[in-house]
Amino acid sequence: MNRPANVDVLLQPRPPSPLQEIRDDRFERYGVRLLLKRDDLIHTNVPWDTDLLGPVDLYPPGNKWRKLAPNLRAAVAGGYPELVTFGGAYSNHLRATAAAGRLLRLGTVGIVRGDELAGRPLNDSLARCAADGMRLHFVTRSAYRDKAALPALAGAEGAYVIPEGGSNALALHGCAELGRELAGVCDVAAVACGTGGTLAGLAAGLGAGQRALGVPVVGGGFLGAEIRSLQAAAFGGPAGDWSLAEGYAHGGYARVPAELALFAADFESRHGLPVERIYVAKLLWALLALTREGAFPRGTTLAAVVTGRP
Ligand SMILES: *Cc1c(COP(=O)(O)O)cnc(C)c1O
Repeated sequence: MNRPANVDVLLQPRPPSPLQEIRDDRFERYGVRLLLKRDDLIHTNVPWDTDLLGPVDLYPPGNKWRKLAPNLRAAVAGGYPELVTFGGAYSNHLRATAAAGRLLRLGTVGIVRGDELAGRPLNDSLARCAADGMRLHFVTRSAYRDKAALPALAGAEGAYVIPEGGSNALALHGCAELGRELAGVCDVAAVACGTGGTLAGLAAGLGAGQRALGVPVVGGGFLGAEIRSLQAAAFGGPAGDWSLAEGYAHGGYARVPAELALFAADFESRHGLPVERIYVAKLLWALLALTREGAFPRGTTLAAVVTGRP
């Protein structure tokens, strides 16, 4: 495989993502300071991106980059010819993996949940994956459950396997860096949770006296156990002080009721920040609701991780 000499440049440690203080009287009224940790800008705050990579849109944004980077390093070091991973039809993780594969000239195979999608025009997200060179393989929902069997089914035996959502032990180490970037600057670091991998790593990287708060975007209450097992795999046991704020899933994954959409649009116009609806809007909503309930003592500094862009 003909790899560019810039692999090392691409995977070298990156500068911290920007931290932005915002003034919002709805929080200030309760003596709560709100900082935004702009992981959505990871792809644009690095001067070499455009020189090296052409259009920045190629770059996998947000927390997906933090999770992927250590896995990409391992795949390159191990001499794997390609990456294989899994996701739904709108998966940011599939897009990030496809983009990363293109940048590193590694082949990518995306196993997509739902064989009813095969033979239909690709949606924008999957079209982007395909444009980045990802080979898409559609499987039935029942086949999708048996992840271990899927790479062979897709003709990708021998590929470096990245789990659904990108959360594995290496990914948690990548996300611990997010915690270290926040060490000493906030009391509570809050993040929206899908698989919980970002929260699990973030918590491990925070300093003494800081805690991590996760807002699940899917109900069901299974996430705590998932996070404990991810931390055991990555760190050999529990790491950091973390908890989950349940009850802010707004009906489930990718559900965006009108009141949430209104809240997000209002936040955008107050602060000039694009608010991603599936994760970030639910996080900000939860933080405001908890602030109003008095969950944070006066003088608390919150850092909300903006994990992606719309
Ligand atoms: C994937 C994703 C998350 C959730 O990350 P997990 O590590 O799976 O919990 C949060 N925000 C955005 C924008 C994402 O794309």
